[in-house]
Amino acid sequence: MDFAFTAEQLQFKSQVLKFAKKEIVPRVREHELNSTFDFESWRKLGEFGLLGLHFPEEYGGSGADVITSVLAGEALGEAGVDAGLTLSLGAHTYLCTDTIFTHGNEEQRRKYVPKLARGEWIGCMGLTEPGAGSDVASLKCRAERVDGGWLLNGNKMFITNGSIADVAVIYAKSDPEGGHAGISGFIVEKGTPGFSVSRNLHKICVRTSMTSELVFEDCFIPEANLLGPEGAGFMMAMQTVEWDRSALLAPFLGGMQFVMEKCVRYAQERVQFGKPIAAFPAIKQKIANVKIVLEAARPLVYRIAWCKDQGRPMSHLEAAVAKLFIGEWSLGPLNDAMMLHGGYGLCHEYDVERVFRDSRLAPVGGGTSDIQKMIISKLM
Ligand SMILES: Cc1cc2nc3c(=O)[nH]c(=O)nc-3n(C[C@H](O)[C@H](O)[C@H](O)COP(=O)(O)OP(=O)(O)OC[C@H]3O[C@@H](n4cnc5c(N)ncnc54)[C@H](O)[C@@H]3O)c2cc1C
Repeated sequence: MDFAFTAEQLQFKSQVLKFAKKEIVPRVREHELNSTFDFESWRKLGEFGLLGLHFPEEYGGSGADVITSVLAGEALGEAGVDAGLTLSLGAHTYLCTDTIFTHGNEEQRRKYVPKLARGEWIGCMGLTEPGAGSDVASLKCRAERVDGGWLLNGNKMFITNGSIADVAVIYAKSDPEGGHAGISGFIVEKGTPGFSVSRNLHKICVRTSMTSELVFEDCFIPEANLLGPEGAGFMMAMQTVEWDRSALLAPFLGGMQFVMEKCVRYAQERVQFGKPIAAFPAIKQKIANVKIVLEAARPLVYRIAWCKDQGRPMSHLEAAVAKLFIGEWSLGPLNDAMMLHGGYGLCHEYDVERVFRDSRLAPVGGGTSDIQKMIISKLM
């Protein structure tokens, strides 16, 4: 395994860092405070090519490798972009567009991927339901075959970008008796009669990312919008795990780097008892705690990206370890980072409390820590 990045990859990372600091970060605090999606930043991410980095150029992308996508995600977090915007980017790119690109037929690819990859359209993916989270195979949303297509009925819960998406990849039961093999994927366009958004959920974290409940009532989906073979929905949803555990986790690494740099600066500048607080062993230990977890987490994420670039099958055990490690082990160090800033650490304008709050998504979204432990123990 060789984790030495190429000069091109490193150069791109520093370009993304510079771009994000200048073009995105100045609006983060306002949108985070108001829990609003930043359409202006979205447009800029699209112009910079960050909404379709790994897709081939003929489909509106830049043909980048997975490691480059990971480094770009890290750079966004490192610049101070909030994990709400990077979650929206991840759900759009990896859970929606990539699923259409990977499993769609040529007509579907041509129709949806370029507009999504360029950021002209926003994408989302709906798997979770009010009654089906960890146990996704128990989902109730029904796809009933009718003349010329399918009728969707049911609800989807916690859908990132749900209320702002132009295109949704929706998983539903096409065969209620079929278990995992009874789930199919469908491409649903905004404005399709019978498809509506009932609400956005207000959250403690990733507040700039819209998290919505979707409703389908006798929603007719033409046969042309069945995604992949009938009954392949569960397999398609599970394949996104490789992205979940690499490019989608990368901004959390960047967020830790961002916080660590803030801690070092603050500790050198803040004077108490006549010296910078950096002189106190308790403060040094807090900074070291952030660094230790960050350095341990990085190779876990890089390894999954590297496997994907090499075309090697990803180890589900290693992927679960990466997800669990970042979700669980970042909590203590990020709390330390917040405490290091004293009262200011609890204030919005210092950003540290935001990174702490946003980090709470990692042990929940895309499979909770309990589920990762279950996977790990099953595969051992
Ligand atoms: C901000 C946000 C964005 C999201 N975006 C999307 C999205 O874009 N698309 C999408 O489809 N979903 C999305 N989700 C849903 C997310 O993947 C689920 O919330 C997650 O999988 C957990 O499901 P649940 O919330 O229903 O919890 P549940 O599955 O009900 O779990 C409740 C508790 O029980 C525990 N538990 C459950 N089963 C077991 C078990 N067998 N052993 C031990 N403990 C167990 C869990 O760990 C948890 O602590 C998002 C969620 C959030 C919060």
